[in-house]
Amino acid sequence: MTRPPTLEVLPEAVAANVVGVRARTRGVVMAVVKADGYGHGAVAVAEAAVAAGAGWLGTTSVAEGSLLRASGLAVPILAWLHPSGIDAEAAAVSRVDVAVGSVDELGALLAQAPVGVRIHLYVDTGMSRGGCPRGQWDELVGLALRGQEARRVRVVGVMGHLPLADWADPAANASAVGWMREARRVVRAAGLGRPIAHLAATSGALTDPATHFGMVRVGAGLVGIDPSGTVEMQGASRLTAPIVHTAEVPAGTAVGYAGTYVTERVTHLSVLPVGYADGIPRECSPQAGVEICGRRFPVAGRVSMDQIVVDTGAESFPVGTSATLFGPDGGATPTVQDWARWAGTIPHTIVTGIGPRVKRSIG
Ligand SMILES: *Cc1c(COP(=O)(O)O)cnc(C)c1O
Repeated sequence: MTRPPTLEVLPEAVAANVVGVRARTRGVVMAVVKADGYGHGAVAVAEAAVAAGAGWLGTTSVAEGSLLRASGLAVPILAWLHPSGIDAEAAAVSRVDVAVGSVDELGALLAQAPVGVRIHLYVDTGMSRGGCPRGQWDELVGLALRGQEARRVRVVGVMGHLPLADWADPAANASAVGWMREARRVVRAAGLGRPIAHLAATSGALTDPATHFGMVRVGAGLVGIDPSGTVEMQGASRLTAPIVHTAEVPAGTAVGYAGTYVTERVTHLSVLPVGYADGIPRECSPQAGVEICGRRFPVAGRVSMDQIVVDTGAESFPVGTSATLFGPDGGATPTVQDWARWAGTIPHTIVTGIGPRVKRSIG
């Protein structure tokens, strides 16, 4: 039996990336493992990050946070998006903190049974996607204070989010930093103590200490993606697939749907059993390639739903030979960043797009 298409997750790379971020901040590192750890497996990434010194975990939903808690992770966990409202009971039982971004959201939380949920007040620092508008901040803080006095909630954090998440430009963050400071001042002045403040994601963590406050929330950076494009991180996964079919074909052979690729000479074709249903971008350019036995070979023709064809030229590889679509290895092996460039997208969409048919293994 040959090894099926596999995404090998590399915990040492995650650990090295956490160490790299920690060297750049005096704040605590929150490891953000939403979208199943950016496609790498939330628990595996979280465990590696915590072992390397991440002090918190972050997820989108309480349900994702509860899964981490259930797998034995003991550090504080924060969830910041509640599509069907905050389930206070679930948050309390799993000890998952929740971000609260509006007066309505906090009102609905306080109306539930008094279970003592830990909350982070979320101010809109310029994104207009989440968080409390500045004009309602005083009201939100006042309501939180009453909720805390009634022991229904405990305010443990104040957060914002940088809109320019992929810019290495401190000046561009200045207004968000200013709003964050002001939001924190209002919270302190209200008598809510000194909850931990956090604003930066990977880019801010790597490039702008003014955004760090007490904690930085790092997701992309854990798996080797620096959205600011300024720091070399370690890729944390390797995608491989076996050759399942080969053929020697004459010059002038059309390959794949619509015959967009026509061989120029006698050549060898190898078929890999991964396609766009597995997250191989159909829109990738003719530069796209894979590594086989230490050499780079081009993807020939269109990406199909379940397969791609590789033109290996004069080389003929036996069925079962492993091809590497991406990995941290360098040389002939493409990176996630290469695939993002070939597909005209960002590395995030490549790693989060790898489908469920691809087996996961921990390297
Ligand atoms: C996704 C996310 C992060 C992490 O962003 P990266 O750029 O991937 O590090 C941090 N905070 C919030 C609110 C997020 O949604």
